[in-house]
Amino acid sequence: MAIIVQKYGGSSVADTEKIMAVARRIVHTVQQGHQVVAVVSAQGKTTDSLIAQARAISAHPPKREMDMLLATGEQVSIALLAMAINSLGQPVISLTGAQGGIMTDTQHTKARIRVVDGARINQELEKGQVVIVAGFQGVTSTNDITTLGRGGSDTTAVAVAAALGAEVCEIYTDVDGVYSADPRIVPEARKIGEVDYSEMLELASLGAMILQPRAVEVAAIYGVPIHVRSSFSENLGTTIKEVNVVEREIAVTGVASDENCAKITLVGIPNDVNVLYHIFSSLAVESINVDMIVQAGTTKNITDLTFTVTQEELEPTLNTIAKVQGEQDWQVICDENVAKVSIVGAGMMTNPGVAAGMFEALNNENIPVFVVSTSEIKVSCLVPRPDYQRAVRACHRKFGLDSAK
Ligand code: ADP
Ligand code: ASP
Ligand code: MG
Repeated sequence: MAIIVQKYGGSSVADTEKIMAVARRIVHTVQQGHQVVAVVSAQGKTTDSLIAQARAISAHPPKREMDMLLATGEQVSIALLAMAINSLGQPVISLTGAQGGIMTDTQHTKARIRVVDGARINQELEKGQVVIVAGFQGVTSTNDITTLGRGGSDTTAVAVAAALGAEVCEIYTDVDGVYSADPRIVPEARKIGEVDYSEMLELASLGAMILQPRAVEVAAIYGVPIHVRSSFSENLGTTIKEVNVVEREIAVTGVASDENCAKITLVGIPNDVNVLYHIFSSLAVESINVDMIVQAGTTKNITDLTFTVTQEELEPTLNTIAKVQGEQDWQVICDENVAKVSIVGAGMMTNPGVAAGMFEALNNENIPVFVVSTSEIKVSCLVPRPDYQRAVRACHRKFGLDSAK
């Protein structure tokens, strides 16, 4: 009997009717002869509301208490879903992250799963029960509740699937698969049938919020196939697995965008690699993730440095820079009115001229580019925030991804 892990996102369990529909789908999967573990998110916008409640009390709430608060959202969902499944006559048990053996490190609000101890889940499955596990949450070795960062239920589901040796990890959401761009921005976006882990990891990391990047990373490491599909239809969705991407004819598979960017420019810093080392090592000590970096306007002794961080990390970044700067005469300029647009495709490795195509598309739309970064399978451009959706659509069109409608 195969184990199937199904993850239901917030929109899939947003109200009573939707919870009953999820319950019916789970019971149907059991009736087809499978053992089912369901991982669920908090209902609808619950997590956003909890964050707002915390912020109303304190601008910088203790992260441990934040996790204590946020984990309650998923606990409501698992209990309600278990009641719904029970009402259909199917034996079922709900488990919190801790009860489900989701062990994490101690980085509150962005913890990483260290190990999933599947003993309890297996025990409950063997009794013929459906097991519902709270997504997004885990527990440290000292029994403190942690959460895994926004979208973390995806990672819970994949990690549980890996630990149990599940046949597949199904991610049920409000779109019927992974599209060539966010369908909310590009109505002409196309559903992709199969995506390689490497491309999906780039798309997710570059802002395609359909999956948490860490979920894709874990799936790739353990070879767990992911099936992203709609909880509101029976349509097959997108499979994420190892795909032979060598000699792909299409250069670009998808376009992603990320509004959560802030640009910092240090004007007039010494043109000295030791200074760069000092700046970035100080940021690293504070666990600040720097994304794009460009050094420009260089004369022999003086240069300008531009880099990006997430908006939450802007304030700690500016504090750190102030400490490194000390009495030195630099000008610090920051701009939060920016966004990152990226094209992704394993086919880029064998198709030249892709970056040129992106610049042409942006140029035709008169969209300026502040910073560029590339890897083997992506090109990212930082653009003014008000232009980013137009930029996404222009790139999507340029690389022939628009569906014929
Ligand atoms: P859930 O609550 O089920 O976890 P999310 O809101 O986290 O759902 O993710 C689903 C959303 O991701 C979709 O509604 C869609 O707007 C967005 N999205 C962004 N990029 C893509 C993409 N390339 N393909 C499909 N959906 C995408
Ligand atoms: N409820 C959490 C969030 O909104 C986790 C998740 O939905 O995956 O980010
Ligand atoms: Mg999500």
